[in-house]
Amino acid sequence: MDSCCSVKTAKEPFFQTLKYQIVSLSISLVCLALSFFWQDIVGRHSIAYYLNIGWIGVILCSIPLVYTAFYNLFKLGKIKSSLLITVAIIACIALEILDWCGVSVADAHSHGNYIFTAGEVAFLMMIGGMLEDITVRKSKAGIEKLVNLAPKTAWVNINGEYVSLPVSLVRIDDTVLVKPYEQVSVDGVVSTGNSAVNTSAITGESLPTDVTVGDNVYAGTWNQSGAIEIVVTRASNQTTLSKMVQLVKQAENNRAPIASTADKWASIIVPSAVTIAVIVFFVTLLGFKVGWQEALVRGVTVLVVFCPCALALATPTAIAAAIGNATKRGIIIKSGLALQTLSAVDTVVFDKTGTLTKNDVTVVDYVTSIDDKHFAMYVGSVEKTSTHPLAQALVRWAENKSPSISSTDMNTLIGVGVSATIEDRHVVVAKYTHFGVSFAPNFLAKCSSWLNDGRTVVGVSVDDNIVGWIALGDTLKEGALQCINQLHLAGIRTVMLTGDNQFSAKMIALQLGIEEYQHSLLPEQKLLAVQQLKQSHKVCMVGDGVNDAPSLATADCSMAMGVMGTDVALQIADIALMADRIDKIPDLITFTRRVHRTIIRNMCISMAINLIAVILSLFGLLTPILGAVVHNLSSLFVVITSALLLTVKEKQY
Ligand code: ADP
Ligand code: MG
Repeated sequence: MDSCCSVKTAKEPFFQTLKYQIVSLSISLVCLALSFFWQDIVGRHSIAYYLNIGWIGVILCSIPLVYTAFYNLFKLGKIKSSLLITVAIIACIALEILDWCGVSVADAHSHGNYIFTAGEVAFLMMIGGMLEDITVRKSKAGIEKLVNLAPKTAWVNINGEYVSLPVSLVRIDDTVLVKPYEQVSVDGVVSTGNSAVNTSAITGESLPTDVTVGDNVYAGTWNQSGAIEIVVTRASNQTTLSKMVQLVKQAENNRAPIASTADKWASIIVPSAVTIAVIVFFVTLLGFKVGWQEALVRGVTVLVVFCPCALALATPTAIAAAIGNATKRGIIIKSGLALQTLSAVDTVVFDKTGTLTKNDVTVVDYVTSIDDKHFAMYVGSVEKTSTHPLAQALVRWAENKSPSISSTDMNTLIGVGVSATIEDRHVVVAKYTHFGVSFAPNFLAKCSSWLNDGRTVVGVSVDDNIVGWIALGDTLKEGALQCINQLHLAGIRTVMLTGDNQFSAKMIALQLGIEEYQHSLLPEQKLLAVQQLKQSHKVCMVGDGVNDAPSLATADCSMAMGVMGTDVALQIADIALMADRIDKIPDLITFTRRVHRTIIRNMCISMAINLIAVILSLFGLLTPILGAVVHNLSSLFVVITSALLLTVKEKQY
């Protein structure tokens, strides 16, 4: 977070801490209150008149401001709006000194007490900065919750005894015991026991999932019933949870484009503010025929009100709050840019298998010209090496019939199938079109009836001879229909791109009401399709991240679902839904649109307030103090409306 009010630099000196802010604000409040009546207390002609107690407030409150202004100017060569406020404060002090020298520069509100004015401006700036810090801290509570989620110790089995060790000492392949109602501290695979695990902290899903031997469990989740033993699969700094934390931290540093624009403006705004202040000085002096002292006061007021703090705050505070809110719901938004892009998408492109359809595809039928057991052994042994949802279904089916054996020369034909060498034979399992549709007559009738039913059909060849065909059926994911309907209601176009055959594609598209779809695409053809759509639309691609990586990377914005444990998707997609909940997508888009509206509204309001304030100062209707009040009120308004985004509930997205 870096705006004009916030006085943050890379290192945090003592005077930028909350403690310093609270102490100096309290002291300054007393000093400035006394300073307001200083002339009445000490009299105009005593020596104490020159030792105005308000100086204490000026010094305490302006140190951080002046430090940031000069640090940025001289160390980083950047002009920040804090420089503007510094100039305004220096100008106030100059007016005070003029007053000492007997030059009366009184205005109605400050009785010529410019130390009070300078202190007041710095005081209000510090309050603004503090409020901003507090909002940002609140937004970060989401990741702090994540960071604190995983327990710091684990019960590790060392020579048959369970010893409590810090998780950093737990190694891959160690066996760890998770007792009932304890939190899981590592990522691993269950080796003994059954239980239900609550993943809500990571995925936002409230229903616990049953786990048994062979299932994955993740650090940060809660073990709810039975004791389980798990074999550790990832080092403690590589767990899904720690990756999420890294990504959210990274997101907070990746500012949205509008935010950096506001920063760029600072270097234009400061010189323009000074120029306009000078113009106001001369216009009021020569045009309005007021005294030069009054003209000077109006010039200084312009300097104060011109600072676009609220404008600079509008985007970063809203983005931080929105990212914080989404994180709490198991949605990782990796950058402010992704959030803003998503709010502007008009087309959502879906992958089919594993995205619109359930991951647990099932084998519904098969034919083979060789012995059943051998056929299953070939299929299981080849597919064991693949991570594709179809592969998992095929392995489950095959291993039920015959155990798989080891394979060599494994090769993935992405979006087509897999091949490997088994017992010196070259085995390929791939989509049926890969084999040049040379159906043996006895299979032909079967295959065409499968295709008519919208099945996914894969062929199996051994040493280039086709030995059988398998039909797989996929079912719609829960919430898929609702997701598509809601997107259509929101005026968003939906497109399905699939590597599967035309019949299965058509069936799924019909069930969902998706009018546009392309089938039989290879990954590079999916990429081309996305590129084409991108030419006239803002495209969000939703995929599984494994074989859709190229098209995910090409789309304006990308999303992956159910990514717990799949690093690739978590790395590639701009937005990751930890839970496998497709129905969250329309809600998320609505929410990002709301965030965008908040940002635009805040920017318009703050610009309007600044403009009005400049005009009022020109006519002498605002003093520097009132200017600072108006200025801070608009910042406060922006920070509060952003903070409200933190409280938006999922159903109101
Ligand atoms: P989608 O675009 O629907 O997600 P993919 O591009 O992942 O589909 O795969 C396209 C087609 O390639 C599948 O329908 C299937 O016929 C075939 N295929 C992909 N991977 C495998 C595999 N591991 N085993 C068998 N066939 C596969
Ligand atoms: Mg897929």
